[in-house]
Amino acid sequence: MAEYRDVVVVGSGAGGGIVATRLAEEGRRVLLIESGGYHLAGSYNRWELRASRQLWNPPRFARTREDGSRPIVMVSGKSVGGSTNINTKVGIRAQPQDYRKWYEAAGLTGANGRPFGAADLDPWFDRVEQRMQVRRRADWSHSVRVVERGFRALGHELHPVMSYTNEDCESCGSCTAGCPTNAGGTTLNRYIHGAVVRGQLEVAADSEVREIRTVPTAGGRREASGVEYVDPDGQHVVVEAPVVVVAAGAMVTPQLLQLSGLDRLGTPASSLIGTTLGTHTSRMVHGVFDQIMDAHVVYPITAHCKDFADDTAGGFVVEATTLLDPIALASNLVDTDFRPLWGEPLSRVMNNYRYLAAVFMMTNDSNVGVVRATEDLVGEFEVPIPDEDQRRLDDAFAFCHEVLRAAGARDVVPTGYLTSHMQGSVRMGGDPERSACDPNQQLWDVDGLYVGDASAISRTLTFNPSLTIMALAERLAQHIHDNTAERLPALAAA
Ligand SMILES: Cc1cc2nc3c(=O)[nH]c(=O)nc-3n(C[C@H](O)[C@H](O)[C@H](O)COP(=O)(O)OP(=O)(O)OC[C@H]3O[C@@H](n4cnc5c(N)ncnc54)[C@H](O)[C@@H]3O)c2cc1C
Repeated sequence: MAEYRDVVVVGSGAGGGIVATRLAEEGRRVLLIESGGYHLAGSYNRWELRASRQLWNPPRFARTREDGSRPIVMVSGKSVGGSTNINTKVGIRAQPQDYRKWYEAAGLTGANGRPFGAADLDPWFDRVEQRMQVRRRADWSHSVRVVERGFRALGHELHPVMSYTNEDCESCGSCTAGCPTNAGGTTLNRYIHGAVVRGQLEVAADSEVREIRTVPTAGGRREASGVEYVDPDGQHVVVEAPVVVVAAGAMVTPQLLQLSGLDRLGTPASSLIGTTLGTHTSRMVHGVFDQIMDAHVVYPITAHCKDFADDTAGGFVVEATTLLDPIALASNLVDTDFRPLWGEPLSRVMNNYRYLAAVFMMTNDSNVGVVRATEDLVGEFEVPIPDEDQRRLDDAFAFCHEVLRAAGARDVVPTGYLTSHMQGSVRMGGDPERSACDPNQQLWDVDGLYVGDASAISRTLTFNPSLTIMALAERLAQHIHDNTAERLPALAAA
């Protein structure tokens, strides 16, 4: 016989970790299923190769051109805590232009049917910022001070970022290998683990969900009925649940819905699943300096330049400073034709590792990426780059190049296109012709089935997405708590 839970949450990252924990804390019987392992901070160390096995997914590649050149490398986390276990903790609220674009793109509405805005999300941002311990990072390193000169020389300013790192952060630079001290917030250390220790939340780690189960309703719709997953022993397990939250990240959530047949329900909303992926495409641009920068032993991103953030001002943001660990750095550098750097030019850069400091450019995009499911859930991704998006990429790169030169870099070496900010692939909105899920993140066509992660974001955010994903997750948990009691047999009978 299948197991039963009130709620099943698939994926334990920025979105799923919070929805699951909050509902469990409210007394629901929740099973949180995560394909990665349960690894606490005591097991982290800065051994890049090990961390990439323990905490990272292998990178996925999005095609941007017919000939396969200039792909976007898409990176993400895989463990209980998801990408929050390896991210750099910058925590910034959605901006006024983001809300405006969400309404324009998908008719997203908030309270009283008005266009969704700050008033709808601010209470949830307040809550998340408190629990994640967000603070302002004005403790800039030497490398930030050096590149700041370049920004100033061009008439621009750097500002401290907000970040979910508490005052115990030792600025050791280990964020992407897992924070070894828990000073950096994750959904594991700020939400999930406490609820597990208190006996409120059940986690199935090393378990991959393969199918979202739904059944037809009398009214001609469908409703969630549970999931099927593969446990660590390779056994297929079915869990019945009247409420299912899919939060497997913007690359996998649409695939799970597609493999479960939910993109073929004959409605515009269902056919939109996986067709509106946004990538917030980025590059790291490295200056090679004559002085030691040691940009690998700093908190990676303490400062950012917001002067171009609005779409009308350029549509990009630049953060400072950062430096990938050596294997990732060596495998992501490119030459001027976007070919991987190789041989002597590569050794020259790597020999100067301590003299490098990178600025990180992130560009807004048009959310026209397409996700196609594969049986192994790796997926296929097509992300054409429209002219406007290309202009942003080119302008941002030219600006970073000038900044580093003005700061005294003797050479400038970039990565190709990459992103860790995939979003919008199952977008929410107020219009079922233009969105896959409704303003409460429930699939328009399926009762009790919610999208609880970056996939639901209606248009790519201006800044780093995680805090907004978390605030939406807090809001979603409250919505599910308040509105689904009648779907739970035990509660309905009481
Ligand atoms: C290196 C890096 C640095 C970043 N830095 C920042 C930053 O500074 N600030 C910021 O705002 N954002 C940052 N981000 C992005 C941010 O972490 C993500 O946007 C956010 O975590 C996405 O949340 P999510 O819930 O959509 O997905 P994730 O956090 O990726 O969680 C999805 C989870 O679902 C699991 N999963 C996938 N498929 C299945 C399945 N079939 N069954 C069960 N589980 C499954 C995955 O293993 C994963 O744990 C960074 C990301 C990375 C990778």
